[in-house]
Amino acid sequence: MKALVKEKAEPGLWLLDVPEPEVGPGEVKIRVLRTGICGTDLHIRKYDDWARNTLKLPLVAGHEFSGHVVEVAPGVEDVALGDLVSGEGHLVCGKCRNCMAGRRHLCRNTIGLGVNRDGAFAEYVTLPATNVWVHRTPVHPDIAAIFDPFGNAVHTALSFPLVGEDVLITGAGPIGLMAAAVATHVGARNVMITDVSDERLDLAAKLGVSLALNVSRSSIEEGMRRLQMREGFDVGLEMSGNPAAVRDMIAHMTHGGRIAMLGLPAEEFAIDWATVVTSMITIKGIYGREMFETWYNMSVLLEKGLDLSPVITHRFDYRDFDAAFDTAAGGRTGKVILDWSGGARPERARHEPTEAEAAATMNRSA
Ligand SMILES: [Zn+2]
Ligand SMILES: [Zn+2]
Repeated sequence: MKALVKEKAEPGLWLLDVPEPEVGPGEVKIRVLRTGICGTDLHIRKYDDWARNTLKLPLVAGHEFSGHVVEVAPGVEDVALGDLVSGEGHLVCGKCRNCMAGRRHLCRNTIGLGVNRDGAFAEYVTLPATNVWVHRTPVHPDIAAIFDPFGNAVHTALSFPLVGEDVLITGAGPIGLMAAAVATHVGARNVMITDVSDERLDLAAKLGVSLALNVSRSSIEEGMRRLQMREGFDVGLEMSGNPAAVRDMIAHMTHGGRIAMLGLPAEEFAIDWATVVTSMITIKGIYGREMFETWYNMSVLLEKGLDLSPVITHRFDYRDFDAAFDTAAGGRTGKVILDWSGGARPERARHEPTEAEAAATMNRSA
């Protein structure tokens, strides 16, 4: 089969013929339809310090995918041939205290698909059946392919109650955009999202946020005035990992404000701890998705009309992966999708999936 492999200890990814993965005990095999390109994949391609210290080569990269089940190991129940599925890319041990207590997202022994084990940038991928999320309501395969980052967004956004609250989101990358869509959908009062990319802020505006603010030109205070906010933000969703953004967020929280922090800083940095203390701010770190409460929330949000289609801005055939990765690395787009279905190469499309396309998917003809 074709797969995007990190073959050599240098920048790049290589499209190679590799053996199809074999189904192990308790696993399922999936014909991959679409994959999403994640920041992690950009690190792997670039082969930065993190990648150098983490990866064992050769490695099939990729962890955001959708596909149809083509094989299930004996004894696997509840996953059937032909099911449209997404995959939870964190494989947990099942034995540690947190796993035993059902808090699998807090497992200390997590293995990452496409990082510590061969991933989904391939025609086929295998995964434990317990890591597979079966779509039981119609979902376009493009949207199904981004359930992993959508889950990051939902896990972060739903960490604290949002109904009627003023919400600040720092960072309008794909996950920040999806978190903004979720916060708006579930009934936050004001949702202000900040970034320095006008392209990404334009996407945020399409998702119906109260204010998409370019912090290279305007201050958060200015934004608060425009929204006629008199006090600070109730909830902060930090999506950038950028020290200035984190400091700015802390400075503009109301007393008792709560921050869910998904953005991963590249290195240590100082913040104003005195403000954290005297404003009595809670900061909660977020990593991955709750298994499988977040997945349940995602499916229900889509079922209840949440529209993520503006977040997907580019689609490429997998054979054009270099162009796709360059586009994603540019930092001005929403989500970039690779099509592995093997048909004619899709045009770089900006259209939203139609009802008919979603229906066709349910008929498993995609
Ligand atoms: Zn990802
Ligand atoms: Zn565990």
